[in-house]
Amino acid sequence: MSGVNVTRTSNLEFNTPFIVTHQQAEIIRALRRRGVISRTDIARMTGWSRAKITTEVSVLIDKGFLKEVGDGTSEGGRRPRLLNINNELGYVIGVDIGATSIDMALADVCGRVMQRQSVPADVRNSPEVVLGHCSQMILDMALAQGTSPEKIYAIGVGVPGPVEFARGTLVAPPLMPEWENFPIRQFFRTTFPSAIIVVDNDVNIMAIGELRAGQGVGLDDFIYVKIGTGIGAGIVSNGKIHRGANGCAGDIGHICVDKQGTMCRCGNIGCLEAMAAGPAIAERAMVAARTGESPILARRLETNGSFLRPEDVGAAFREGDRVACEIIQSSGRMIGEVLAGLVSFFNPSHIFVGGGVTNLGNQLLSSIRQTVLQRSLPLATRHLIIDYSNMGTEAGVTGAIFLTFDYLFYVSD
Ligand SMILES: [Zn+2]
Repeated sequence: MSGVNVTRTSNLEFNTPFIVTHQQAEIIRALRRRGVISRTDIARMTGWSRAKITTEVSVLIDKGFLKEVGDGTSEGGRRPRLLNINNELGYVIGVDIGATSIDMALADVCGRVMQRQSVPADVRNSPEVVLGHCSQMILDMALAQGTSPEKIYAIGVGVPGPVEFARGTLVAPPLMPEWENFPIRQFFRTTFPSAIIVVDNDVNIMAIGELRAGQGVGLDDFIYVKIGTGIGAGIVSNGKIHRGANGCAGDIGHICVDKQGTMCRCGNIGCLEAMAAGPAIAERAMVAARTGESPILARRLETNGSFLRPEDVGAAFREGDRVACEIIQSSGRMIGEVLAGLVSFFNPSHIFVGGGVTNLGNQLLSSIRQTVLQRSLPLATRHLIIDYSNMGTEAGVTGAIFLTFDYLFYVSD
């Protein structure tokens, strides 16, 4: 796997549970990359002397960071003892806070997921309410695991807004204005004193999920696009997430696609998000239902009561509704136009599309594909693959867990 780091974190104000030297960090990095390895493997990967490896590994085992997990295959002589990160050290949590839901998982420090939870939530509530709910969910998971809050060593949190990564705070989030500058790390630290808290944009953690455990494993340059209540992109460049100078690279939802378009939550006119995301799709369907333009959508509106969701548009499309088809195509075209710009600028090998609106079906994807192909240069699209992500809600929580692994072991020497 690419992009696995053990990072110097002093500029990020983390308290860090597990302190290691540079050499020890290199061993941890090798373990993260390869899973279970022997001392001989470490020698091959680092070029260090046998004696040096024996010493460093012993220190890591004494600290409780590594453990021997059985015997490998013999290459002549004694079978080598295999090493792994000590899964009994404690636990890490991945939290994906979406506009309308919280998805969460508890994993051991090797990344093995032991519990998952998903609940509906409204992120427009105050951060105290939403994060308080998250804290309670984590406490419940710890209890179910038979462990204490002190054994939670890391919490990775994805939030649906622009995150200043170094500080772990949201800056002018259109969807959740009350969260502006809220100290998310400090909030969690009061309940989970041993944990490092890493906060990132929700789409970035999804991209990390794809990179480390999904279709993005082994890819160097790809884009993950989330289409839900909002629209955003996570950019993987050279095998690493690209956050840009301030942390908001990939915030494509506020690129203008129609100067005469509707007003966006951010205050501008005709943003991609305001024109093509879930609420815009639902809104257009409501109009078609009320004006009688689409009898099928009108019937669904009547069944639902007073609202239509993007999935109603998907269902109407499957029933052969022409208007539903046009709504989906129009949304796909606008998203495709912005992605065509990204393709020209960044030349990714893959674009993975995820988020709640993907349950609209393949029409959305084919409209996106068609537009990107029409609007980009042949060289950029010759091998370009545009596909739905198949990780679903797993992408976010998995990415949040992997994100914390970059900060769990702190290099100090
Ligand atoms: Zn906007």
